[in-house]
Formats: sequence, C-alpha cells, structure tokens
Amino acid sequence: MIIPPFRTEPSLDFQDPQNRQEMEAALKRMEARLGEEYPLVIGGRRVVSSDQIISLNPAHPDQVVGRHSAAQLEHVEQALTAGWQAFASWSRTPVEERAAVLLRAAELVRRRRHDLAAVMVYEVGKPWDEADGEAAEAVDLMEWYARQALEMAAGKRTAPISGEITEFRYIPLGVGAVISPWNFPVALTTGMTTAAVVAGNCVILKPANTACTTAAFLVQLWEDAGLPPGVINLLTGRGSLVGDPLVDNPRTRFVAFTGSRDVGVRINERAARVHPGQLWLKRVQLEMGGKNAVVVDETADLDQAARDIAASAFGFQGQKCSAGSRAVVVQSVYDQLLPKVLERVREIRVGDPVDPRVTMGPVVDSAAEEKILDYIEIGKQEGELLLGGRRRDGEGYYIEPTVFSGVSSEARIAQEEIFGPVLAVMPARDFEDGIRIANSTEYGLTGSYFSRDPQRIAVAKERIHVGNLYINRRSTGALMGVHPFGGFNMSGTDTKAGGPDYLLFFMQGQSIAERL
Ligand code: NAP
Repeated sequence: MIIPPFRTEPSLDFQDPQNRQEMEAALKRMEARLGEEYPLVIGGRRVVSSDQIISLNPAHPDQVVGRHSAAQLEHVEQALTAGWQAFASWSRTPVEERAAVLLRAAELVRRRRHDLAAVMVYEVGKPWDEADGEAAEAVDLMEWYARQALEMAAGKRTAPISGEITEFRYIPLGVGAVISPWNFPVALTTGMTTAAVVAGNCVILKPANTACTTAAFLVQLWEDAGLPPGVINLLTGRGSLVGDPLVDNPRTRFVAFTGSRDVGVRINERAARVHPGQLWLKRVQLEMGGKNAVVVDETADLDQAARDIAASAFGFQGQKCSAGSRAVVVQSVYDQLLPKVLERVREIRVGDPVDPRVTMGPVVDSAAEEKILDYIEIGKQEGELLLGGRRRDGEGYYIEPTVFSGVSSEARIAQEEIFGPVLAVMPARDFEDGIRIANSTEYGLTGSYFSRDPQRIAVAKERIHVGNLYINRRSTGALMGVHPFGGFNMSGTDTKAGGPDYLLFFMQGQSIAERL
C-alpha cells in the first residue's frame, strides 16, 4: 500500500466567502436536525434504552441538540460481547485494510468538515475557527495513525542467532474502553478510538454526556467509511452510572481516557484491581488536566507575548487542557505587559458562536458556569480583579473573560484547574523565579516561555517540566504529527497523542523463534 507522506490538514479561512457560505449552510442543516433521537450502537445494531440523555445548546439551554439513549448496565455487557465477537475477525483483518478505513474516514471528515464543525458549534459552543481547526485535527490523527500502523506492521529487527528464524511483531490487545471528554469531542474521540481500531482492537466508546451528538455523528461517519459492525460500539451514557462497570469489567482489556484529574485517578485505581475471571492486567492511559503557565521575562517581545497570553487563556472560553491559565511575568516588565494583555482581552467578542464574528462562546453547561463563578469569588480574595468577573445577563452560560492580577503561586486560582475564561497574572522576581512558579503545580501539561535570548531559552527548555513546551508561541494549538501531545505529573501518563509511539499503547509485542 503506497500512500503519500503525511501533511497536516490546513484550517479554513472564513474570510473567504465560499467557506463562509458553506459553513452557514452546514449550520442551517444542523439547525434542522436539532432534537433528533440517537440510539446506542452495539454490534452495528441500533439499541434504544428506556432512559435518555438530553444534549443541550449552551448558548440557548432550552434548545435540545440531541436526545440520546442512555446506556444501562446490561448495555455494558452487550457491548463487550459485541466487541469481542468483532475482534475475532477485525484483529486478523490485514493492516492495509484497517488503515484504508481510517484514510476513507479522513476523506469523509474533509467532505463533512462543516457539518462536524456545526454540530460542535451547537453542542459545546465552539466558535467557527476552533471548530474547524478541530475537524482538521481529526483528519490529521487518522492520516497519522494509518501510516503508523503500516510502519509498525513491518515489525522490528532483533539480533540474529544461528539455528533459529526469529520474528518480533506487534499484535492487538483486545476490546477496550475509550472514555472521552466534551471539550475536543471530535479530535480526542477520533484520536483514541481510531488509534485503537487501526491497531486491530475493538472499542466501547463512552463519550461525555455533554457531547453525545458529536459522538453519534462520528460513529456514523466511521460506519460510512466501511468499518465492520462491533468494531466501535457507542455507549452514550452517564459516566457516574456506566463508567465504573466499564472500567471494572474483567473483559475490558484496556482503558484510554481523557478527562479530569479526579476521574482519571479513580479509573487508574479501579483498573488496577483484578476481578474474578480476568486474564490480564489492564492497560490504562490517562490524559488529564493542566494549569499551564506562560512565562514572560524582560528579554521577550511584549506585544507578541500579550497577544499569545490572551489567546492561550481565552481560546474556546479557556476550556482547553492546554489553556495558559497562568501568566507568570517578571516584575521589571509586569506593569508594561499587563495593559497590553488587557487590551487584547478587551478585543474578545463574547456571544452565540453561530455568529462568525464571535471569538468566545458560552461555557459548556450550568455546572461549569457555577464552578467557574465560584472560582471567580475565590479569586477576588486572592488577587485583584482587573477585568470581567461576571456572568452575562440573559440566556446562555456566558462568563466574561476574567483577569486577576497579583496572584501568588500558592493561591487556589494558581494551583487548581478552573477550566473557564479566568486568567491569573502572577508576578515573578526574575527569570529563575518565573521558572520556579511555572513548575509549582502538580500538573505538567503545556507551558510557554517568551524570550529573545538564546541562552535563557536553552535554560527554559531544560527546566520547565511540561509535556508540551512552546517557545515564543501560545500554549495551545498542538498539531498532530507535529507536536505529539501529552502531559507529565498529574496531567497524565504522557502517551503523546499524534506522536511516533502512540500506537504502542494499543499493541503487545510478540517474539517468535523457530528452530531450523
Ligand atoms: P470528566 O468529567 O473527567 O469526564 C471525562 C469522561 O469521563 C466523560 O466521558 C465522563 O462521562 C467520564 N466519566 C465520568 N465519571 C466516570 C467514571 N467514574 N468512570 C469512568 N468514566 C467517567 O472531564 P470533562 O469535563 O469531560 O473534560 C474536561 C477535563 O478533561 C479537563 O480537566 C481537561 O483538562 C481534561 N482534558 C485533558 C486533555 C489532555 O489531553 N490532557 C485533553 C482534553 C481535556 P460523563 O460526561 O457522562 O460524566
């Protein structure tokens, strides 16, 4: 199978009238589908449950995006049975065929990118650019993993020995759970699921209950790309009900999770227990939260730093694991940089993301709104509120872009992930102190450092302890295949999505020796 070298999928420019019209048409198509019902998908069958999850538009919480069957305990068992049945043939399907399904799915995402973007606009409040960028990321992930699977199928060379023919190859693990968050409902769901599948595994997909409709669109797309029944089973359901049974089940071979620290730690603990009848130790990957710092010192281009601080903190309403929620600024340039940051933040246009002029939409649901407003109250005790700090009147979960200044490194708003549009600006004595502050949380996901001094940059590269470090650019916007993504410490298991080794998690190496 010959495929061209990997290239990242470009984002679309919505200044172009054609792109704009196509996106408007997709939003209209999505509007016409609001409120549709979606069943579970088990072994290719559509299964309707007695209970439902209602997915709502955070910009208009009385508007139903999708009505989804909510999986019950029996569906976990049914999905695992269907997955293991499909595994018997899928695991033996030539890797070229498995890779071809991903490449066809990538092509379908290219053709349906506006529809996928539109469902995210309605379901999770993504502004156009962010939603389109995410669709492009899904293309990249499938293109990347298809190539990786083909590469790995060639096996690895081992040392020769006389009298034996030896072989070392990778084989799939079995049936596993993919548990995904709502904030990148296309890219992260696609990445974990298709990496597992191209490696020959079958998947029980449990998406976040606030992003079920997006997941249903993806599962349909993979079916349209020719994926056989049972290879991906969709269990929309409440994590609080089906999460533990899925993780605990002795037939679950692996768990790929992206989400919050607390749920990740819980999964880690539960998956470690061996239950009666279990034949393996479960393999677990956990990609969790972040409290990422953007460090700026007197050697930086302050205009560039200000622009990227605002983009890092407030892109997608600050609801990115990679969000730069802490700006750590050395005292000598603090008073110079702060007004520049505020100027940038004031340019953010908050509103319904259906409108292409909007750069910041609502936060995802009422629980998120409440949590963020609670942190803003805490912030008022811990720093000086310079901007924002309130919810917008009227419908929709809109929170103003909020900036606190003078925040100490021990403050709760400097230590805990808020996951909303709240930036803590923190003074540092000097460059050294800035690095200390950057490393002073339990997380270690992303970080940025701004400087024009090569020696300082070299030190920052050595000392800022994060999985994804960026120099002179924002802390968000990793490109798959280019910036393998995953965090240190309590940010996760550092499995590096979109990286050269990611598929290894979903495979086991087998050594075969044949005496001559
Ligand atoms: P979350 O609340 O932890 O939920 C993530 C997933 O876990 C959802 O599907 C959720 O289902 C499910 N879940 C809940 N309880 C469970 C249980 N007991 N067992 C198994 N699964 C369970 O996270 P979120 O709010 O969706 O996402 C935001 C978090 O994800 C943030 O902390 C963010 O930093 C992190 N994140 C990390 C990365 C990364 O690459 N490191 C990327 C994106 C996001 P329900 O929705 O039904 O509760």
